[in-house]
Amino acid sequence: MGARGGREFLARLDSTKREVWYGGEKIEGNVSSHPVFRGIARSLAALYEMQASPDSRDSMTYTSPSSGDRVGLSFLQPKTKEDLVRRTRMMKAWADYSGGMLGRTPDYLNSSIMAMAAAEGFFGKEGTDFASRVRDYYEYVRENDLLLTHTLINPQVNRAVGPSKQADPFVAARVVEKTSEGVIVRGARMLATLPMADEIMVFPSTVVRSGQDDAPYSIAFALPVSAKGLKFICRETFSSDSKYDHPLASRFDEQDAVVVFDDVVVPWERVFILEDPEKANKVSEETSAIVFMAHQAAVREAAKAEFLAGLATLVAETIGADQFPHVQEKIAEILLTAESMKAFIRASEANASPNRWGLMTPDYVPINSARNLWPRVAPRFAEIVKQLGASGLMAIPPKEILASAERPDVDRFYQSKLLGAEERIGLFKLAWDAAGSSFGGRQDLYERFFFGDPVRMASAYYAWYDKEPYRERVRKLLARE
Ligand SMILES: Cc1cc2nc3c(=O)[nH]c(=O)nc-3n(C[C@H](O)[C@H](O)[C@H](O)COP(=O)(O)OP(=O)(O)OC[C@H]3O[C@@H](n4cnc5c(N)ncnc54)[C@H](O)[C@@H]3O)c2cc1C
Repeated sequence: MGARGGREFLARLDSTKREVWYGGEKIEGNVSSHPVFRGIARSLAALYEMQASPDSRDSMTYTSPSSGDRVGLSFLQPKTKEDLVRRTRMMKAWADYSGGMLGRTPDYLNSSIMAMAAAEGFFGKEGTDFASRVRDYYEYVRENDLLLTHTLINPQVNRAVGPSKQADPFVAARVVEKTSEGVIVRGARMLATLPMADEIMVFPSTVVRSGQDDAPYSIAFALPVSAKGLKFICRETFSSDSKYDHPLASRFDEQDAVVVFDDVVVPWERVFILEDPEKANKVSEETSAIVFMAHQAAVREAAKAEFLAGLATLVAETIGADQFPHVQEKIAEILLTAESMKAFIRASEANASPNRWGLMTPDYVPINSARNLWPRVAPRFAEIVKQLGASGLMAIPPKEILASAERPDVDRFYQSKLLGAEERIGLFKLAWDAAGSSFGGRQDLYERFFFGDPVRMASAYYAWYDKEPYRERVRKLLARE
């Protein structure tokens, strides 16, 4: 089949049975027309359509080595630096479509499974066929262009102890039994963005480490979302049908869900790590999956910083505030972040080298630095947009006012130096959706946490970074005559 277009994506979305709960309702019927999902479904369809469009097909896809079909470029296993650059261009095209507001475009997890599939030696060590299972799964996902979600974290019941020490040992998803059919899993995981994916990957956290007691929880597998007993419990939606009132939420609310495993049978061919804390702790690093995911994330982050720099500039210019030095300084701060992310990406590609599994792999030093810097700088964007927009961010009446008897007042009092009232309100609604609405609040939280707890990530970064050359320079200075 190969790379999907928008129509194929929507058709599969609607034909896949899944148990998704929204409030008291189990969603029945076509997911693509449900109010919670229709905005994001259309946006994802537009991304897939870029793969089918004659204008962008060549830059979004490549020829599958197994079927000869065109398949999505984020599945490409890079062998050269040029391959990495091709991947980056493709990922940037998807990220630019949403101004970086879509955290989970399909390339994020495609990059992860692509890297893991190459790491045969990692999965295959104990004479099992784990390695071929991962490779087969990657090829299945690639050839059918499936949309993946994933869930890595146990429910937030008591973080003082690990999953095996919780009062209820079946809160966190774990192995209950092994049968001839496969592994039976019970419990829950938190969180999975995009519950309207085709498949879910259940993998160990990239940050939290498991001890020997955690063996039943130390698993990695993948399932179709239609698997019996698999349930998604959604948060409140931020979506809306009004593109004018909620320009981002109406298009890009990805939705996040807690995932419940009600004695789900995971067929053996979908089990990749089983009751193995050591492997669970190493899988992201040793397969380089984390590097390729962080590379994709940095590309999206650059796109987001560029988009927000554009938005902040328009907001300031529109009301004539762009002449003030502190306003310029704040916009410059966003531009500096955009340029920093792009520099990290370029450096990671320029210094790329083959990993032990033969994939041309971005240099982890700049890419891990981008990964750790981002949750520290991204929260500033919302602050800056709010500082620049000020009360204008509240002068955003619902669209209906434009067709009401109040229109003359609106035209007079809501205009700005550069824009008429309708356009100014539209621009400020966009700014509010990016920085302050429930959608904007979720964006802020996402950027802080999507790659894991930034505090523990920073500790790991501190331990991993080779600081010795810098220490030595200080010692030398002290010893200087
Ligand atoms: C919008 C959004 C979307 C997400 N989507 C996904 C997804 O699709 N898939 C997925 O797998 N995950 C997803 N996540 C979850 C993400 O992986 C977690 O938020 C992240 O790993 C942090 O874990 P936590 O939220 O459970 O925080 P916790 O671990 O519960 O941390 C809460 C607080 O306690 C502190 N803390 C807890 N334990 C320790 C410790 N041992 N040492 C020091 N400090 C500690 C933390 O620093 C933090 O301040 C998403 C998160 C968000 C916000």
